[in-house]
Amino acid sequence: MIVMKFGGTSVESADAIERVAKIVASRSRRSPIVVVSAMAKVTDQLVAIGHKAAAGDCDSALESFEGLRQRHHQTAGELLGHKRAATLAPKLEKRLAELESFLRGLAAVRELTPRGSDFLLSFGELLSSLIVADAFMVRGLNAAWVDSRECLVTDATHTRAVPQMEATRARCKKKIAPLISNKRIPLLGGFIAATAEGVPTTLGRGGSDYSAAILGAALDAQSIEIWTDVEGMMTTDPRLCPDARTIKQISFNEAAELAYFGAKVLHPATLLPAIHKNIPVYVLNSRNIKSTGTEITAQAPPSKDTFRAITAKTGISIVNVVASRGVMVHGFLRSVFEGLDRYSTSVDIVAISEVSMSFTMESKRLPKALLAELAEIADVTCEDRQAIICLVGEDIHGKPGIAASVFNTVAESGVNIRMISQGASEINISFVVRESDVPRAVQHLHKQFFPAGNKNAAAKTKTNGAAKRVRVNGSGAHVRKPVNAKQKPGQVRAAAGAQ
Ligand code: ADP
Ligand code: ASP
Ligand code: MG
Repeated sequence: MIVMKFGGTSVESADAIERVAKIVASRSRRSPIVVVSAMAKVTDQLVAIGHKAAAGDCDSALESFEGLRQRHHQTAGELLGHKRAATLAPKLEKRLAELESFLRGLAAVRELTPRGSDFLLSFGELLSSLIVADAFMVRGLNAAWVDSRECLVTDATHTRAVPQMEATRARCKKKIAPLISNKRIPLLGGFIAATAEGVPTTLGRGGSDYSAAILGAALDAQSIEIWTDVEGMMTTDPRLCPDARTIKQISFNEAAELAYFGAKVLHPATLLPAIHKNIPVYVLNSRNIKSTGTEITAQAPPSKDTFRAITAKTGISIVNVVASRGVMVHGFLRSVFEGLDRYSTSVDIVAISEVSMSFTMESKRLPKALLAELAEIADVTCEDRQAIICLVGEDIHGKPGIAASVFNTVAESGVNIRMISQGASEINISFVVRESDVPRAVQHLHKQFFPAGNKNAAAKTKTNGAAKRVRVNGSGAHVRKPVNAKQKPGQVRAAAGAQ
C-alpha cells in the first residue's frame, strides 16, 4: 500500500484533476490511499473571507464566498459532465451552506478564534476531496471518500494541532484498512483532522503533506508520494534561483532540516512519521507523470556538491535582550529561558553572552506579552523582516574551511550577516540576513556551491535495497522541541515542527 498526496496546484482545475486520476490509475496495483489539498489558493481565500466576515463586512465576505462556490461547481461540471455533476451538487451545497451560515455568524460575533479558523479552513479540503473522489469514480477508479476528521486524531492546539498517533492508528485500521482490503481507493482531504471529541482541527498551513505521512505511518505504507508542481526537492527554491536542480536522493535528516528552514515543498513535520516507521518518501511532479523526483530515505549516497541544498525562511524577527543596568547578572539567562518556556515559544538561532541574548523567531509566533515580560528585566529590541538562510549537507561536519567559504561568498554578494549558527546541528550552517537580501545571497551561494558543471552530481545512483534505519540522535533535525529552561545554550536551536 502507498499514500499519494496531491497539493493545491495539482488539483487546481479540471485538467489538473484529470492528470491526478491518470497518475493514480498508473499506481492502482499498489493499493493507493489518496490525499488531496484544497484547490490552489482556496485556503488563502478562506482566510481572507474569514477576516472580512470577522471585521463585520458580511457582504464582501459573501461575495467572495460566491466566487469559491462557483469555482467548485464549475470544476465539478467540467470533470463530471452535467448529469453526474447534478448528483454531486447537493453534497457540495450541504458543505457550502454550512460555510455560509458560519460566515454570517462570524460577521455577527465579529471574532475569528483559532478554533473557528480551523472549522473555516476545513471547507477547502472537504470540497476538493468530494470533487476528486467523484472524478475518480467517473474514470473507473474505485474511490471511497473518507472524512479525515474521523481518521486523524489530534490534540486541541488549533491551527497547528499535534497528531495523536495511537488513536489515529486505531481509527485508520477501522475506517481505511477495510476499504483497501475491498480494493477501494480511499480518498481524503489533507490538512484537516479532529480532536478525539470530534472538534475540527488543522495541522498548520501546508499540512496536507503531514496528513499523508501520518496516514502512511498509521497504516504502515510502503512509500509516501508527495506530488507537487516542481520536479522534486531542489537545490534551492526554483522561484528564487532558476538554476536550481532536482536532488535525486536525500536523507531524512537533510530533508527535515530543509523543510524546517523554509523549503515549502514539504511541511516541516512531514518527515517525522516517515522517519519513525522508516518509510521512504518521494517528491514528484504531478505535471510530469514520468517524473522520478526526489527519493528521501534514512541514508542517501553522498553528494558531489559540498551541500545538499540551500533554503531561506522569511518572516523572521531578531529579538535582542540586554540585561538592564542594576539587574543581577546572575540568573539573567535563566529568566529569559523561563520566559520562553512559559510562552511555549520555539526559537531558531540564539547568540548569548553573560548579559545579553539575541534570538530569532517567526514574527507571527512572537508573543507580545513575552516581550513585555522580558522588558521588566532587560532592554528589549525587536527587528522584523529578517530571514534565515540555511545550507544543509550530511557531509559538512568536520570539513575545515566550509564556513569561511560560505561567509566569504555572502560578503562578495554585498549582503550583511546579522547572526550566525553552526554546530547546533551537525548538518547545517545557518545565518540571518535582511529579508530583502535573500535573493541576492541565495543566488550567489547557489552559483558558488552548485556550479553548472556539476549538473550530474545529483544524478540517481543505485541504492542497496531497503533503506537503513535512521539515525535518531546527532543533528536532532527531527526532534525539535520548544525551548525550555533545561536546555543548554548549545542545544537551543530547536523548535516545534508544525508551521
Ligand atoms: P503544493 O501545493 O503541492 O503543496 P507548495 O506550494 O506547498 O506545493 O510547495 C511547492 C513549492 O515549494 C514549489 O513551487 C517551490 O517554489 C517551493 N520550494 C521552496 N523550496 C524548494 C525546494 N528546495 N525544492 C523544491 N521546491 C521548493
Ligand atoms: N490547503 C492547506 C494550505 O493551503 C494545506 C495544504 O495545501 O497542504 O495550507
Ligand atoms: Mg504544500
